[in-house]
Amino acid sequence: MPERPYLKLFRVPAGKKISLKDYNPGWRQSKEFEQLGKDELKSRAKAILEQDLAELAKAQELLYADDRHAVLIILQAMDAAGKDGTIKHVMSGINPQGCQVYSFKKPSSEELDHNFLWRCMKRLPERGRIGIFNRSYYEDVLVVKVHPELLEQSKLPAGKRDKTFWENRYEDINTFERHLVRNGTVILKFFLNVSKEEQKRRFLERLERPEKHWKFSAADLHERGFWNDYMRAYEDALSATSTDWAPWYIVPADHKWVTRTVVAAIVSTTICGLDLRYPQVSEAQRKELAEARKRLEKE
Ligand code: ATP
Ligand code: MG
Repeated sequence: MPERPYLKLFRVPAGKKISLKDYNPGWRQSKEFEQLGKDELKSRAKAILEQDLAELAKAQELLYADDRHAVLIILQAMDAAGKDGTIKHVMSGINPQGCQVYSFKKPSSEELDHNFLWRCMKRLPERGRIGIFNRSYYEDVLVVKVHPELLEQSKLPAGKRDKTFWENRYEDINTFERHLVRNGTVILKFFLNVSKEEQKRRFLERLERPEKHWKFSAADLHERGFWNDYMRAYEDALSATSTDWAPWYIVPADHKWVTRTVVAAIVSTTICGLDLRYPQVSEAQRKELAEARKRLEKE
């Protein structure tokens, strides 16, 4: 797996209070890209993406055979930031049997009858698999923090919904993730950082092109009205829950090819960095295999 030193630019340091102003949604720079013109830049990024996807395909096979680790990928973003396209591209080269994607929508009444982690726990990837959460329990400290009236539906015991309430939720998340990591799950969390201008451009494109109409929802436009509240909620959540065991990455999302290349590189570098091995064949198993071979050859 080639080194990609620029990846650490995107990682949110554990314990640091971040400001999204410091992260450029339009970023497309790196030592590797610096010298290139626009078209060349794109084709170079594409080549890197292809190389990383090939590495990822190999790594996934090994992850499956090794059967000790699971990989959980969490994607969070504003609407039209490119979650769907990223999932499609990053997963394009891998064996569908080893990968599961789950999209979390507004919770059902059954889901609201449980703690906020419950519905996600049921969808966690098993050992050997890559699981992708398209939205996740982070919605409960993002959309729910922006619209605290949603909490009324969740039938929580009475108590103040103050600063401590949200800090307790971050703590629950950190502890939950730590439990998963201690038990063999690798967690990678991506915030696709799209700018407000680029979101407008993409919404307009959805309105202009008939084949994209189905993607437009008036609710998305409504949520856009809360942009600054969302950015604050993201800053709080990312600062509080980027940990050494489950880091957040803030991925520039104004250029789709940058997003895809960066996410693919981080996922494949991480999996390739695990100590994965094909299971050892014991002496007894080796004998059994030799027997089987003899029998087949005699047929
Ligand atoms: P797409 O629009 O590309 O199909 P999406 O992820 O935006 O994908 P939608 O069905 O449009 O899917 O939106 C799901 C909605 O559910 C989002 O607005 C999200 O904020 C909301 N949601 C998810 N989890 C929760 C939650 N725990 N509480 C309240 N709302 C939630
Ligand atoms: Mg949507």
